[in-house]
Amino acid sequence: MELNPHQNYFSQLLNNRRPLLISGPCSAESEAQVLETAFALKNTGIDLFRAGIWKPRSKPGTFEGIGEIGLQWLKRVQTEIGLPVSVEVATPQHIELALKYGIDVLWIGARTTVNPFVVQELAEALRGVEIPVMVKNPVNPDLALWAGALERFYNMGIRSLAAIHRGFSVLGENRYRNAPLWQIPIELKSRYKNLPLIVDPSHIGGRREHILPLTQQALDLDYDGLMVEVHPNPAVALSDAEQQLTPAAFAEMLTRLQVRSANSPNPEFQNCAEELREKIDNADREIIEMLARRMALVEKIGEYKKQNNVTILQMERWNEIFKTRPEWAAKMGMNAEFVEELYKLIHLESIRKQTEIMER
Ligand code: PEP
Ligand code: MN
Repeated sequence: MELNPHQNYFSQLLNNRRPLLISGPCSAESEAQVLETAFALKNTGIDLFRAGIWKPRSKPGTFEGIGEIGLQWLKRVQTEIGLPVSVEVATPQHIELALKYGIDVLWIGARTTVNPFVVQELAEALRGVEIPVMVKNPVNPDLALWAGALERFYNMGIRSLAAIHRGFSVLGENRYRNAPLWQIPIELKSRYKNLPLIVDPSHIGGRREHILPLTQQALDLDYDGLMVEVHPNPAVALSDAEQQLTPAAFAEMLTRLQVRSANSPNPEFQNCAEELREKIDNADREIIEMLARRMALVEKIGEYKKQNNVTILQMERWNEIFKTRPEWAAKMGMNAEFVEELYKLIHLESIRKQTEIMER
């Protein structure tokens, strides 16, 4: 399915400038806070202002958003400051109110995208309405759910669609608040070529210091835009205090980003890149040939184990492999953790092959 076959809200913005800049507070808290933030961001030259009015919070009793009155403040951002505005909607009533106040763009939050019933209800509330919609990834790492949500809006006639990558909840202690799992948004982008992909480094990182490097990484992966949370005084923010930037820090961050293009018109670059890619193709062929050789040996030893009634898995052997391979890799200047991960896959495949032999 082609999600964005025509010129639309996002493609027009992207014709004028890349990356698309979306910014604003996590939550609208007061009229003064909203106007002060919007005024500063207007001067930074952003394309779209964001503010949460209804906030999906994990714990009850915390700040759950200012509600309808915030829409009046956003109206002032539109008319007095001259910035288009966006809010998160999670129920058909939110949509009704957002449309009543003439909000320019809607976004669907990560906790909503997980639920196809709710997404369908929201899409139906927008049947026949021409408004751009941005869909955040679901909190769980499920590409089909994300794609499905986008398709539900598309099926109701929404033609201006964008995807926002805000990271995924995964178990355990992690460097980031939400794991980026870059392969998921990249797979989405390869499936829907014209779908703008926007990074939300604030919700991925969860801490201010991660925002610049995450944004740079996204731009180097050819993302189309960024959505960053900005608050005049992050320390006292009513939600997401740790991850919001001041308007000045945001403006400074923009000056430090390197925007590179996906291709160079320089013929010398083209030639060099082609030559190197050919060498990479050859290296990959060699890697696969060697893996095939390894698997043939694994089959042979599997036969012996079967004849001698020996278990497939021997703990000392497993431990030895996971000790030595990363060590060898480190000696060759490679990332030991990467090679350890790689060997987990290889070893699991070896066990699968030998299981097949045992069962024959
Ligand atoms: C937000 O954008 O403030 C928000 C609640 O984000 P998410 O849905 O990504 O958690
Ligand atoms: Mn937030």
